[in-house]
Amino acid sequence: MEMRLACKAEGQPEIFYSVQGEGKNIGRPRVFVRLSGCNLHCVWCDTAYTWNWQGTPFHHVKDLPGHPNKFDSKRDMIKRDVAEVAAAVSNFNAPGVVITGGEPLMQQGAIVQLADALRTTRPHAIEIETNGSIAPSAALIEEVDLFMVSPKLPHSGNAPELALKPETLTIFAGLDSAIFKFVAREPADVALVAELAAKYAIDRERIYIMPEGTTSADLIARGSDLIASVLENGFNYTDRLHIHLWGERRGV
Ligand code: SF4
Repeated sequence: MEMRLACKAEGQPEIFYSVQGEGKNIGRPRVFVRLSGCNLHCVWCDTAYTWNWQGTPFHHVKDLPGHPNKFDSKRDMIKRDVAEVAAAVSNFNAPGVVITGGEPLMQQGAIVQLADALRTTRPHAIEIETNGSIAPSAALIEEVDLFMVSPKLPHSGNAPELALKPETLTIFAGLDSAIFKFVAREPADVALVAELAAKYAIDRERIYIMPEGTTSADLIARGSDLIASVLENGFNYTDRLHIHLWGERRGV
């Protein structure tokens, strides 16, 4: 089975060894596999090269008048067989793999095969970063050690009925293997997370609030605005370590 992957450079799938930059495992070494394609279209997405293809109508904060921030799927997406991806991951001496995107759950059949292949070579923790709008299959739940679920709030520009699906959020809320990470721009976003936490009975210990931003200056400024409401609500706070270390570079 083939997987659609993002490219870190032309012809090179975005599979790389780094530290997890966000959430529960921040600072831990991991291999990252970035898949291409997303069912949502966040206006501030920092991996728009996985979905914002030429000829599509989606908007992005980096659009300039007359020059939308579009990408060429022939250059920025590449297909690889699951066995090739598994071999590339196993070349790194990492304790775990993070499958990210884009939206990985668009390719969950291939991810199940990848997880199977990885476990036959040596033990890897299998972690998935998802926007939480696509239900995981029973087979995927069985394979995955950690789902990092990042439901998208209205400031993402997505319609709530597409981004915040009750039946899917209920499934993730009920999984011991799931934690939640919400991107926030202002304290009102944290208040909305508190409403979601109550609605889906998500323990606050499992919730991380992360400032939106793709520069250190933006993260510090937004984080300063958010931190009082994060603490008031008993949530965890997470930075974006990779932005401080590498900025917006791909494949790091
Ligand atoms: S869900 Fe994630 S990958 Fe998809 S558009 Fe939003 S931020 Fe980007």
